[in-house]
Formats: sequence, C-alpha cells, structure tokens
Amino acid sequence: MTSDKEPHQETLDPADWEAFSTRLHSMLDAAIGKMRTASEGRVWTEPPEDLRTKFSLDGAAHSPDEVDSTLRYLLPYGAGNTHPRFLGWVHGSGTPANLAADMAAAAMNANTGGRNHGAIQVEREVIDWCRRLYSFPETTSGLIVSGTSMATIIGLKVARDSQLEFESRKSGVCGQKLVGYTSSEAHACIARAFDMLGLGSDALRRIPVTPDHIMDVSALKEMIAKDRADGCTPFMIAGTCGSVNAGTIDDLDTLADISDTEDLWFHVDGAFGALGILSDRLRPRLKGLERADSLAFDFHKWLHVNYDAGCILVRDGEAHLRSFSDRPDYLKSSERGLAAGSPWPVEFGPELSRGFRALKVWAHIAEHGEEKLGRLITRNCEQAAYLGELVQAAPDLELLLPVSMQICCFRYVRDGLSDEALNKLNEDIVIQLQLQGVAAPSTTRISGRLAIRVNITNHRTRFSDLDLLVREIERIAADLTSD
Ligand SMILES: *Cc1c(COP(=O)(O)O)cnc(C)c1O
Repeated sequence: MTSDKEPHQETLDPADWEAFSTRLHSMLDAAIGKMRTASEGRVWTEPPEDLRTKFSLDGAAHSPDEVDSTLRYLLPYGAGNTHPRFLGWVHGSGTPANLAADMAAAAMNANTGGRNHGAIQVEREVIDWCRRLYSFPETTSGLIVSGTSMATIIGLKVARDSQLEFESRKSGVCGQKLVGYTSSEAHACIARAFDMLGLGSDALRRIPVTPDHIMDVSALKEMIAKDRADGCTPFMIAGTCGSVNAGTIDDLDTLADISDTEDLWFHVDGAFGALGILSDRLRPRLKGLERADSLAFDFHKWLHVNYDAGCILVRDGEAHLRSFSDRPDYLKSSERGLAAGSPWPVEFGPELSRGFRALKVWAHIAEHGEEKLGRLITRNCEQAAYLGELVQAAPDLELLLPVSMQICCFRYVRDGLSDEALNKLNEDIVIQLQLQGVAAPSTTRISGRLAIRVNITNHRTRFSDLDLLVREIERIAADLTSD
C-alpha cells in the first residue's frame, strides 16, 4: 500500500531542474566575473544607502530572479580584500578555484561535528598535513575552526585544564590564581581567550618588547619569578609568530626553553606568520615553532583560502580530548555504522554542528602545492622590503619600523608640523586612499606616532602597486596640506 496523502509533497527543491541549472550557471558566471576582474577598478566602495533597503527582509517569498539579482548587486561591496591594493590589517585575498570546493561542500551540506563520513576523513587529512608541516609528533590532534581567535580559545583551554588536572571542567578555576605571559605586541585574541576562559584578562601579563619588537625574555623570567613569589600559578607562555604591528617573530626557541624549565604550556599565535614555514626566506626564522604545545594559525590569511578557516594543533592529543570530550547518550559512538569513527571533531572543540571548511583548504593545497604557496609568501616579503626602500628614498616619508616580514609602517612628514598634526595628516591620508578607492592600507601607532600600515598578504599585489601607492600618498598629502 502506498500513501496518497501528499502526491506532490512540498519541498525546498526546484520544480524545474533545467531552469535551476541555467539560474545557477548564471550566478557562477557572476562569481567568476567578480574574481576575474579582482585586480581592476576601485579597491573599496562604501556600501550605498539603498543596500540595506534592498536586503531588508519582509518575510514574503520572492522570485529566484529577484533574489539572485539582489545577490549580484552585493558583489562590489566587499571590503576589497580581493584587490591587489588591499593592504590593510591582515586579510587573505582568496582564489577563484576555491569557488569549486565551496560548491562541492555546499552540495554535500556536511555537518562535520562527528559521525562516520567522508568530510571527517578529509579534515583528518588536512590536520595531518599541518602536523607534518610543523614537524609535530603523531600524538598531535587538531581542529579546523573559524580562525585564530577560536583556535586560541581552544588551545588555551587545553592549557588551563591540563594545569588544573581537568578538574576545572567541572569546578571552574575556583580561586586558583592562574597567570600567563605574552608580549605587549601580542594580538588581542589571547587576552580575549583569558577573559572567556574565566581567568580574566589581567591574568595575562603583557611582557615588554625589546627594541626589535619581540618579547623581552629577561623581563619574562623576572615576571614569572615575581608571580611565583606572590603566590600566583604561572601556567603558560604565548609566543607571537608574526606580530600585527611589526610582523616580528618572538625568539620561539628560547620561549620553548623557558617553558620547559618553568614547566609551562607553550602556545604560539602564528595566525599569519606560521605559514612562513612554506617560505625559504622565513623558515629559518621559525625555529622553535616545532616545540609548541599548541599552535593557532589561519588558512584564510597568508594561504589565501577563502574565508573562513583557521586551525588549532595540540601536541598532546590526549590532553586535547580530555579537555573537550563529553559524549552524552544521544551522541554515543559505536564500533560500526554511521556513529563509528571516534574520536569525533566535537570532542576537540566547543562546536557540535559545523560546516565543511576542510574541503576548501584541502582543494587549495592540493591544487597549488606547498612550493608555489611558499613562493608567494616570499614575494610578499620582498614587496614589503621594496616598499621600505621606496619610503627611505622619499624625503617626505619616514620609515617607522624596520621591515621584518610583510608589514611596512611609515608616515608622511613635513617640516614645521607637530607630531599631533602629523598624526592627523597621516590618518587623513589613509582615509582618502580608502575613500578614493585607490588603496586600502590601515593605521596603527608606533611609539605614539600614527603610522600608515601596509600589510601585504596578497597574491595579487604587484611591485607597481607599491610605486602607485607612494605616488598617491604624495598627491593626497599635497592636496591635504595646500590651502
Ligand atoms: C588575525 C590575527 C589573529 C586573529 O585571527 P582571526 O582569524 O581573525 O580570528 C590573531 N593573531 C594574529 C597575529 C593575527 O594576525
């Protein structure tokens, strides 16, 4: 007997698959077009007034054509980080080929929290590639996450729980004065992890940096001794491999030594810098990274995987599991069938349902290979060094920090202007570069001075873009100072 209750049951699938195919190919063409012209036109365009109106949801159903044309309308209004002169903060520039992996992932609609299916296997292979890349031991576990901020929370939770023998999972930190150390140049995500882990951001000691902008290791040792004398419990050091202001790398080997001697967890924030392992130019500077207890880094920055994807690696996979594993009855594993394949990703992080980020990472590495990805990183460093030379050759530009990796911080100067006036002028220059669609550097402060900060984690940037940037800064500065 068959049920005739709903002969034409309503679903969310298209009624006409031929028409759907035409529709989707047209969106694919729009997406390819966006990538194909990534190097042309303005870098950034402020979203127009009517964008919000176009996207305001009235709850009614609209035709596919109408919905798709609204999607196409949005394409020009990104941050501009696919453009060769997007030079702000630390963004990756993305690739056209990643569209294919994203489509395949969307078609599978995989939930990678657990169970026994292909997507989980792919993620394990990506983690294993990372493990080998950083010469971590086979005991290593890992998880693909949204980015370094999430990776840091996970790494530091394992550190905290290991210190408190995993009792903290039930009873919290209960008055224990756990303290950790990072440099004053470290990224804010470490303090945020301290906050979220119930340690409080004050428990993260900001160790001053040397004139080379790396953690001052004697100040670190003094601080650890002082904390112990004061009855605090030091439990971890977070080294920086690629600082956001200066692109500098802490002395990781020495930090690993101190972590060993003091019996502390050694975490490394390698958001962009850890990928330097692929570059012949940077690899020698990363010595000590292979000794980290946990390493957080991004695929979406210097590897150019489309947003978002980052990674946490934990050397002691057993500790990682003990810090997160918690399988209630409805998530119990089995030996065979779909519930097999322990441990599941949900046992290594806070998320149960999660998408299939691993596929685009896998496809990216499989297509482009380590060598080419490394060469592009090296070229970005050469470009930052080239910009540093342009700055030094220009009488009205001042280099504010030596170029360490892919970041160049400088400012426009003019005789007779106070530091305060120069700060305002340089900020206005950056805003004009952005508003005029010419380039998108960002700003930071170096010893109180406002710097034009150029970060090149961009496989589309050409040397000529940097010539143009310098010319345009001089043009805009002349405009702003003429009255
Ligand atoms: C970008 C960045 C982070 C944060 O990473 P997200 O992927 O944005 O969460 C942390 N540390 C450094 C050094 C960074 O550059």
